Amino acid sequence: MPKESNRVIFPTEGWTNSLEVEHVGADQFGNGLVYDTRLNGSPLVRLIYDARDMEITVRCLRCEQQSQAFGRFQAHPMIGIVSINATALLVPMNTPRIMRHLAQIHDETLDDIDDVDFYNYERVNYDYIIVGGGSAGCTLASRLTEDADVSVLLLEAGPDYPDFEQLPIDLKNGNNEEPIIIPRGKAMGGSSSINGQVLFRGVPEDYDNWAIWGNDEWSFTKVLPYFRRLENDLDFGGDDFHGNSGPIPVRRYKREEWLPVAEAFYDSCRELGFPEDPDQNHPDSNGVAARPLNNIDGVRMSTSLTYLSMSRHRLNLTVRGSVVVRRILFEGKKAIGVEAESNGESFTIFGDQIILSGGAIASPQILMLSGVGPADHLREMGIPLVHESPGVGENLRDHPAVFSLFRGVGDPPDLEAPSIQVGLRFSPPGTGTRGDIQLAPILMTSEHRPASVQIDSDDFHFGFSAALQNATTAGRLRLASDDPHVQPELFYDYLSDPVDRQRLRAAVRLGLEIAEQPGFREFVAERLSPTDQDLASEAALDQWLLRNAYTQHHSSGTCKMGPGSDLDAVVDQYCRVYGMENLRVVDASVMPDVIRANTNATTIMIAERVAEFIREGKGQPGDKIETQCAPVIPAPRIAEASRPSTVVESETKKDSEKMTTNSTRIERDSMGEMQVPADALYGASTMRAVLNFPISDLRFPRQFIRALGLIKMAAAQTYMDMGIMDRAIGDAIVAAAQEVIDGKHDDHFVLDIFQTGSGTSTNTNANEVIANRASQIMGGDLGSRLVHPNDNVNLGQSSNDVVPTAIHLAALLGFKEDLLPALERLRVALQAKSDEFWPIVKTGRTHLQDATPVRLGQEFSGYAGQASYSITRVKRAQDALAEVALGGTAVGTGVNTHPEFSARTCARLSEMTGVDIRETGNHFQAQASLDGIVEASGQLKTVAISLHKIANDIRFLGCGPRAGLGEINLPEVQPGSSIMPGKVNPVIAESVIQVAAHVVGNDATVALAGAGGYFELNTMMPVAAYNLLQSVALLAASARNFADQCVAGITATDTGPTMVERGLMLGTALAPSIGYDAAAGIAKKAAETGQTIRDVARLDTSLTEAELDALLNPEEMTKPSLVVRGGGG
Ligand SMILES: Cc1cc2nc3c(=O)[nH]c(=O)nc-3n(C[C@H](O)[C@H](O)[C@H](O)COP(=O)(O)OP(=O)(O)OC[C@H]3O[C@@H](n4cnc5c(N)ncnc54)[C@H](O)[C@@H]3O)c2cc1C
Repeated sequence: MPKESNRVIFPTEGWTNSLEVEHVGADQFGNGLVYDTRLNGSPLVRLIYDARDMEITVRCLRCEQQSQAFGRFQAHPMIGIVSINATALLVPMNTPRIMRHLAQIHDETLDDIDDVDFYNYERVNYDYIIVGGGSAGCTLASRLTEDADVSVLLLEAGPDYPDFEQLPIDLKNGNNEEPIIIPRGKAMGGSSSINGQVLFRGVPEDYDNWAIWGNDEWSFTKVLPYFRRLENDLDFGGDDFHGNSGPIPVRRYKREEWLPVAEAFYDSCRELGFPEDPDQNHPDSNGVAARPLNNIDGVRMSTSLTYLSMSRHRLNLTVRGSVVVRRILFEGKKAIGVEAESNGESFTIFGDQIILSGGAIASPQILMLSGVGPADHLREMGIPLVHESPGVGENLRDHPAVFSLFRGVGDPPDLEAPSIQVGLRFSPPGTGTRGDIQLAPILMTSEHRPASVQIDSDDFHFGFSAALQNATTAGRLRLASDDPHVQPELFYDYLSDPVDRQRLRAAVRLGLEIAEQPGFREFVAERLSPTDQDLASEAALDQWLLRNAYTQHHSSGTCKMGPGSDLDAVVDQYCRVYGMENLRVVDASVMPDVIRANTNATTIMIAERVAEFIREGKGQPGDKIETQCAPVIPAPRIAEASRPSTVVESETKKDSEKMTTNSTRIERDSMGEMQVPADALYGASTMRAVLNFPISDLRFPRQFIRALGLIKMAAAQTYMDMGIMDRAIGDAIVAAAQEVIDGKHDDHFVLDIFQTGSGTSTNTNANEVIANRASQIMGGDLGSRLVHPNDNVNLGQSSNDVVPTAIHLAALLGFKEDLLPALERLRVALQAKSDEFWPIVKTGRTHLQDATPVRLGQEFSGYAGQASYSITRVKRAQDALAEVALGGTAVGTGVNTHPEFSARTCARLSEMTGVDIRETGNHFQAQASLDGIVEASGQLKTVAISLHKIANDIRFLGCGPRAGLGEINLPEVQPGSSIMPGKVNPVIAESVIQVAAHVVGNDATVALAGAGGYFELNTMMPVAAYNLLQSVALLAASARNFADQCVAGITATDTGPTMVERGLMLGTALAPSIGYDAAAGIAKKAAETGQTIRDVARLDTSLTEAELDALLNPEEMTKPSLVVRGGGG
């Protein structure tokens, strides 16, 4: 059905009448739904669809008479109403009705129309099939169908209640009378139909982290417009941060509406010193306040009641409840439809684009049931693999929560009373991030009452829900069965990290302290849980936490978005599933990490944003899914304490505007004054080094600058924790260092690699940039030295320990984020080819000469094995670099630093980055030598040589196409010759081989640099850093490129199998029967005469035809046999 022409012709072949339907324009509401029809070529009727009343008016095209409105058109039970194409389908389905109507108008009968088999339609393709009508699904369905040319089918497993009057009370009513056991909603609106209605955004850092992790479309400033778009904030709507015309109404209970418990909680928090936080959706939110809620007059404003209700009238939207999608259908790697089940019957439905919006539990489940997921697990479940995606079901993020239970004084509030009104957002001291904890008093009707808390009496009970927003651990989801009705298994892995337990303990204890405040005590008859015994020690409280931890119902992250270099990423930042075509996941599962807030608003925002991507044509079919990406720069999860506020950012802009009016400013260091560019963040010492080393255009790579930023941040935090650094200065350093980590000041790292051998100039460069930026953050000017580069930023450090530590850290980050995922990608690609080519038997080669047969799959399994060992080698390099010099300061003695500084800072760095890094056991070797770096570089050289061998073999196997070995075809990626038309070369393999050569060269440089350690210090560190980090980046990019652009597209030819029968080494199989010498004679004669081994053996031996068949079976020769005879090379 060609949409471009807006014209559909029914019926097709074999039908008695031809009905033509043409979309001719928009109605008065701009819905684009005016159709002209022709029956057997003659003008019939014009259909005008009135979107407001959902009625269709029919005008006769022959006499211009107009009927009264028809009312709702009849839709086919399965197809429903779908856009231009399928709206057109309505016409044939309703034509008998139209004809009868016309007959009345014209007072004539049109008998022939009854003959038309109007239900005999061909396959219908929806533009989009959305699986799951939850927070994301309803939002997407509504936004996508704003374009009348787009047809959408929304399938929801749970029931649909289009009529508000029919909505069951438990979906309508904002309170839940029974505790909720299941972790998500199953009804139109999904979890938004059963949730607690806290419409809460994450803190800006959450989204900025997503961007930093490689999803640059998702920074806070980029997502803010979509948060505004989704809401109508009845308190703050229309300001910079809040919308006033979106579908979801948001409001906060006014103080005079608060229940006494809520009021007492608020007052107690204020007495304990927590700030008033009037708008918890403000970017700077922190403290206690009324929660923003999407509950209006007691009604839960789900996405079904809001988004979907706005759009149900649209003819291009078909909504079907009680339809369970069993799996996605694929043609190769292209999604083409879904297999669904409705009322016990199975259906196959086709769509151009399939969007999974089943939520963080069901979307990975459906992907796995469809064959997309971790290969081992799918194999275990007996599900055929369509595409290996190891991240599906991994990264299960949530907010672990615990519930302190109290018996209250007096009668319980009635069931209608608001179950949640106020809450506190705070971080326990020393945790380093904000918004770590949500603490709120809640009634037993709240969804946050855990199912495990059962109350037998009618007494008033209430609780404090304490939920950790920034948990460090991630769990995993796995299928329990290949039956879509069986729920998957969830391993949440809550609170396994002591840091998480420590923070939640602090939250529980704070809750109890609040309950004991004078204003609150009067409400508490008895604390039931935790008991005094549970509180007796930290260990006892830990046990209570572990026994009672439950979900805050914010599961996310199981199909996380990320750059191509992140092997665990399931979708790219446009939410397209890697490795697949026409398949997206759009719901809570794509969050790279759970945000520090309830997840409904963010899920809706995600759907809004993706709808916009689709509208803008970003990530449309045909676009190449990003497979390569600059190394990812993850922000620390726990440590970005002092993100500069938006106010500071705008001041910064003002500052730089002001400064560009003068071209230089004066800076000073211990040698005196220097002029530096007016807007430079660096100072006098860096400027001196700029002038001293005008050698090359080689600069420290991003990864190294980021590592310096991380070290400076962690050092400041350690000294603040130890009470050694002033907190205001420390916070400013942390904020400035974060900007360096984020790459915001790379332009200010201006020094040549060929500089002082200790790298002191670049350490100084970092100190000056961070000091100047921190001074600005504190309100000072550049050069004001409110923060000093040496006394503050470099406190307790020396270039001599910082620079080698930065080299190690940068390389370790490169391994983790770039090289290891790239090598794993290559391994997976090679293994897939090994599996695919397993049946193909060809001639093996040793010494470049024919040898006994081998499977092409065996050759590729060798390559996959090399890739696998390469991974092992990089892991060994990780071990070589894990110990660092930090803490040795000038000569390894640790002069001028605290003895605990290194261990504490290393622990923090590990926590921030997820790489294993620890203080060396011997500082003198760590600073005087580069042995760890030399060892790591040696491992990289071995990896390079492995890649060289694989790439070389592959280009030889593909050599040809006519006059070479020609056993495989390599993907043709570009014309090969400027003079020879039609020539295509193995360019990707050639690129790999050149990278390998470069890495070997880098290793030679690193080895010489390693030899440059004299007494207490190595003085060839910058060049070692440059070459090592370049090797990491080159190998990663090259392995990824090789996997995607070459290996994945290799196909086998039939040359290999054809040549086996002609191969002379088949004679080897005869040796056990006729002896080596006789077999050699046969091979020789075959070579001389051009006959096959079989032909000569038939003549020259007494072996029967059956014996020859058995012996000369190349497949048998590809494995060990029971007959053992002498061999040879
Ligand atoms: C009890 C509870 C309380 C919560 N409280 C809050 C709160 O107060 N504030 C807040 O912001 N967030 C809250 N949340 C979280 C928030 O509601 C969810 O994060 C959000 O709704 C998730 O949206 P989603 O689109 O990813 O998934 P869902 O909204 O869960 O939608 C998924 C939909 O897919 C359907 N589906 C699944 N499998 C299939 C299939 N095979 N075929 C067809 N359809 C299928 C499901 O039936 C469901 O309707 C709560 C969640 C729960 C469960």
